[in-house]
Amino acid sequence: MASDPDCIFCKIVAGELPARKIDEDDRTISFMDINPGSHGHALVIPKEHARDLLEIAPDELAAVVHAAQRLAKRMPGALGAEGVNLINSCGSIAWQTVFHFHMHVIPRYSYDTIRLPWTPGDGGERLDQAAEALRA
Ligand code: 5GP
Ligand code: ZN
Repeated sequence: MASDPDCIFCKIVAGELPARKIDEDDRTISFMDINPGSHGHALVIPKEHARDLLEIAPDELAAVVHAAQRLAKRMPGALGAEGVNLINSCGSIAWQTVFHFHMHVIPRYSYDTIRLPWTPGDGGERLDQAAEALRA
């Protein structure tokens, strides 16, 4: 299994760093985010090191998403969550700070202070340009 000796999440996988684990399967571990954005904010990571969304193998990504859904389903009953955000950041510009792929599973409450991070725009003709650029 690919591992990076300098990666803090690989160290959590190896048991070399402590974590409040809440779920585990063959491919993933889930644990509490040490600086939560809301009550119950968790992270799901693949056991195998992959830097980010662009690098992770599709089957590893699928395993992470399955684990994230498993956790999300527990959040209303266990925590009283009224909704959940799944968030992944890919690249420093997109706020990634730990370069071992992870999915944030963030329970949401009517009282929380989390806000939409973008201002919805009017795409104009650039919508067509972007669509054309992105078609494979
Ligand atoms: P990113 O900013 O890369 O999307 O998310 C990294 C997340 O990892 C942050 O929310 C941060 O609080 C969390 N984090 C960083 N170091 C540790 C750690 O040692 N243990 C745990 N449990 N979470 C960590
Ligand atoms: Zn790693």
